[in-house]
Amino acid sequence: MERPLVVQKFGGSSVANADRIRRVARRIARERAAGSDLVVVVSAMGDTTDELLSLAHGITDEPDARELDMLLATGEHQSATLVSMALHALHVDAISLTGPQAGITTDGRFGRARIANVEPRRIRAELERGNVVIVAGFQGQSASAGAELSEITTLGRGGSDTTAVALAAALKADRCQVFTDVKGIYTADPRLVPTARQLPVIGYEEMLELAHQGAQVMQVRAVELGWVNDVVIEVLSSFEDAPGTLIREDPLVEQRNKVRGLAHDRNVAKVTLVAVPDRPGVARTVFDPLAEAGINVDMIVQNVGHGGTTDMSFTVPRAELGRAKKVLDPVVRELGAREVTTDASVAKVSIVGAGLHNAPGYAARMFGTLADAGVNIEMISTSEVRITCMIAEDELATALAALHGAFELARPDAVDAAAAGGLAAG
Ligand code: ASP
Ligand code: MG
Repeated sequence: MERPLVVQKFGGSSVANADRIRRVARRIARERAAGSDLVVVVSAMGDTTDELLSLAHGITDEPDARELDMLLATGEHQSATLVSMALHALHVDAISLTGPQAGITTDGRFGRARIANVEPRRIRAELERGNVVIVAGFQGQSASAGAELSEITTLGRGGSDTTAVALAAALKADRCQVFTDVKGIYTADPRLVPTARQLPVIGYEEMLELAHQGAQVMQVRAVELGWVNDVVIEVLSSFEDAPGTLIREDPLVEQRNKVRGLAHDRNVAKVTLVAVPDRPGVARTVFDPLAEAGINVDMIVQNVGHGGTTDMSFTVPRAELGRAKKVLDPVVRELGAREVTTDASVAKVSIVGAGLHNAPGYAARMFGTLADAGVNIEMISTSEVRITCMIAEDELATALAALHGAFELARPDAVDAAAAGGLAAG
């Protein structure tokens, strides 16, 4: 019988120091002893990526993108070699590979490269030789320029998740397990909502929306990749032996007209252009330069104009606020608007559930709940499976608690029954 092939990914906190690396190695060794072939993707140890970034910024404000990716990739080289050595110490055959050695090719965009292809010949050969294969996550090599000009690229923060899912898809792995410092996906962030519950199963679409709206358990692109390739992703704790959460196609979504979970995001700031002229082309004049600067604009509200002018508000990532202002100052002058005001003390709170779009009443319930809790809504945006409100950051915990109660997310019976049915049906 063929041995099952398992892809496991361990995040930075799971390999933060020698003790943890040894613990990860013991876990890998156990799975190996149970008879699986194993490909293990690792992130850089602890805060290594941040430290490497600050090393670079200690040298120059604008490090060269190519050199920066060369530097950042070393974080994962480190952890991969150490996990491999820890396995050797346990008498488990293992070998570490860089992303390029693992056959991961990407486009040429340094710092945010996308995987173009995975050709895991070397991985297969090493598995054949009896090795556990440890792959440095978060990286690949650009293919476009031809072999002699190919460069090391990195996949964007949190990119090791994407490495793991891409390898699971390419190798047609039997399982794809993402080990992290939480036990799985929760109905809300348990640090802010003590009654939050772990979900046994969540659909790709819902998980994607949660990840987009600030849930930091999985990189957005890893979820997308899993969805497209039908990879069932298991999120579980690297610190305890407990069942995690399965991210997978959820056949019961239509029947379960429920909110699945709440997401929140503090990495947001509000920008308002005051008294911009109310005429065609203004939105383009504002948003084109932001797009050119690569600044992601999210919620947009334009008020009803009066007296020939209108106010326009939108959100940008908080870390981009300084750059956004710089881009907008000349735009304001060009348009003859009164001023730009900004507010970095806001937050977004979202309800997410694939059943939302064919069941009316969720928006009203969300707004009513926030009103009863005395929380003012500053902006609203929606998608098919989500409703998001922007509120003051210091009211975030109040808002989350109220919504968690109103949508009965703490009650295990309803959701668990549906999830159990989903597993049986799938
Ligand atoms: N080490 C990289 C980061 O911190 C990639 C990862 O952890 O997935 O973003
Ligand atoms: Mg990570």
